[in-house]
Amino acid sequence: MGISENIFVGSFIWVGDPEQVWIDGEVLKINGEEVEVQTSSGNTVVASLTKLHPKDADAPADGVDDMTKLAYLHEPAVLHNLATRYKMNEIYTYTGNILIAVNPFQSLLHLYDADVMKKYKGAMLGDLRPHVFAIADAAYRAMVNEEKSNAILVSGESGAGKTETTKMIMRYLAYLGGHASTEGSSVEQQVLESNPVLEAFGNAKTVRNNNSSRFGKFVEIQFNKHGKISGTAIRTYLLEKSRVCQISDPERNYHCFYLLCAAPPEEKQRYKLGDPKSFHYLNQSSCYELDGVNAAQEYLSTKRAMDVVGINIEEQDAIFRVVAAILHLGNIKFEKSEEDSSVLADEESKFHLEMTAELLKCVPSALEDALCKRMMITPEEVIKRSLDPLAATVSRDGLAKTLYSRLFDWLVQKINVSIGQDPSSKCIIGVLDIYGFESFQTNRFEQFCINFTNEKLQQHFNQHVFKMEQEEYAREGIGWSYLEFVDNQDVLDLIEKKPGGIIALLDEACMFPKSTHETFSQKLYQTFKNNKRFIKPKLSQSDFTIVHYAGEVQYQSEQFLDKNKDYVVPEHQDMLSSSKCFFVAGLFPPISEETAKSAKFSSIGSRFKLQLQQLMDTLKSTEPYYIRCVKPNDELKPAVFDNMSVIQQLRSGGVLEAVRIKCAGFPTHRTFHDLLTRLTIFAPEIVNENSDEKDLCIKILQKTGLTGYQIGESQIFLRAGQMAELDTRRALL
Ligand code: ATP
Ligand code: MG
Repeated sequence: MGISENIFVGSFIWVGDPEQVWIDGEVLKINGEEVEVQTSSGNTVVASLTKLHPKDADAPADGVDDMTKLAYLHEPAVLHNLATRYKMNEIYTYTGNILIAVNPFQSLLHLYDADVMKKYKGAMLGDLRPHVFAIADAAYRAMVNEEKSNAILVSGESGAGKTETTKMIMRYLAYLGGHASTEGSSVEQQVLESNPVLEAFGNAKTVRNNNSSRFGKFVEIQFNKHGKISGTAIRTYLLEKSRVCQISDPERNYHCFYLLCAAPPEEKQRYKLGDPKSFHYLNQSSCYELDGVNAAQEYLSTKRAMDVVGINIEEQDAIFRVVAAILHLGNIKFEKSEEDSSVLADEESKFHLEMTAELLKCVPSALEDALCKRMMITPEEVIKRSLDPLAATVSRDGLAKTLYSRLFDWLVQKINVSIGQDPSSKCIIGVLDIYGFESFQTNRFEQFCINFTNEKLQQHFNQHVFKMEQEEYAREGIGWSYLEFVDNQDVLDLIEKKPGGIIALLDEACMFPKSTHETFSQKLYQTFKNNKRFIKPKLSQSDFTIVHYAGEVQYQSEQFLDKNKDYVVPEHQDMLSSSKCFFVAGLFPPISEETAKSAKFSSIGSRFKLQLQQLMDTLKSTEPYYIRCVKPNDELKPAVFDNMSVIQQLRSGGVLEAVRIKCAGFPTHRTFHDLLTRLTIFAPEIVNENSDEKDLCIKILQKTGLTGYQIGESQIFLRAGQMAELDTRRALL
């Protein structure tokens, strides 16, 4: 049945609007395919009949807490429902068992206090108002009762609230699975305190979020057979390395640099630090401070969190020495000497070189050589070649990035070892906080990897939504199955298929010395010219476009080859592995000659693909729960709900996809009782009969002549649009 039968003069509808996406109105006139509508904003517009959606005149004024309770499940209804609830500070709404969380951009403390946690403990999902605690509780109970592992997957764009949501989940799980003891640091305390440590080193202010996570993470919380937290394993994904040496106004570098610059005077003295404005890696942007954050206090609380997770004082000192060394390193400048070689530009550079060497406990001349010279090994001899100032600067930045990413990996590893794994744990609850789909003006290798991740998660999500729907039909005894399984496998093949996918072709290009990004792109154009998920943009000779599930994204291939190479300059490696500092040397374990020889080219793309595959394998063995975080506006302001931005996020976050999947089946489920209340008007005489509700429903529906619906054990299952059709007839009676 089409939508058009439900639209008549005087009916209430939703019509497309350039600003609000959808606006409600009343039908004034119908002229064949053209409909004249009076919108609620007072305009008269003409729209095509097929582009309208009926509006539920009986919808509750304050919305519904679960989208599946909407009589008409379509895009405008979903959007309107979220907006209505957001106005009342109801930031959580279910779509079946997916939780949608709209960022309030203000602290709603009453939502998360201890009393609220107590209330949600043990409550059935759906009995109380939608809440992130309700999801965490459901996951916990399923784990305890069914001895099954569970995963909570939190997604959304930058600034949507993923990390805050993740922390809330962890806090709630610590509350449920905590140990009563107060001696020393308990496991659950350690798990919670891992967050501020990772945030200090992995988060930064960006234009989208003042505390943006620049890495993805999957925290696996292990429980013992009594349901108590017994261990944890944190896996992180793709830290953004480039931020260490390159930032643009008004963004910032990683928080830890500013915190250290605000350390107590004696510590600042120890690391020879001063004003952040004096460091090249920080002063490329004029933003040094964060609203509402006291860096000096944050420094101390980060150290306290390090204490709790088991990073000792010597290690803390070494960590901050490396952080300080990176700042000094960035201030070393080079200038041209004879024959294209480079020398330190000035006295200041010399000072910073010495400081860097002192902090890293290595020999200054060795550091200088590692920065500006390269060894060339020929069969006859070893030649030292000088780099020009530009290449030396690239070398310097490369060293800074390598140091920082090794430091970050060390922290993650240390936290894992220190909190410890529970080998006897049978059940875990995993929490995934990972970057959402990204489509910018310029999309680079990072966006490519991020969107690849989201394709993988989307496939998992779709399969899950299908499965859940199918299970509900089976429970209700309905014999129906989705005939057509819409899938994004074709995009995944395009990206990751071996051989022949984009990642494989990129690796090939990286191994072939003469490749450039142009030859790489030509190869893509040739290979995928008939792939319907791949487009060669008309106006570019090296960009390529992928048709993702969430829309088309055009990627700039310029730095794909460089960024895919996971490469540490051997001179840097040698210098640091011979550091007198146990910690620094430990970050660069010596590579034996054999491994150096046998090690094939190591690629970021392939390694990431492997990591993702491992994540998907873990997720497959768990029962998933989905939380979709939504950012209501780009100004990060409370009480502003921008329809256009929200609808895009619902589309790319798969929420509308879930709605679409539901619509392909029987999206409207009503208990017999509910349906009777709504439909009695069709046959008041029948309802007065003394038979049970199920029989009455069947009789009424027969009388309406509706076909194609299904009768379950406890509910009636209606096709998309059938509720609207019944309402239309009701209105015409
Ligand atoms: P990114 O991908 O950049 O890491 P994110 O999705 O992790 O973004 P968060 O850092 O969790 O985003 O949230 C951004 C900001 O939004 C927070 O710093 C906080 O100010 C606010 N916020 C998010 N969720 C809530 C909440 N439930 N209550 C109050 N404020 C919130
Ligand atoms: Mg985050």
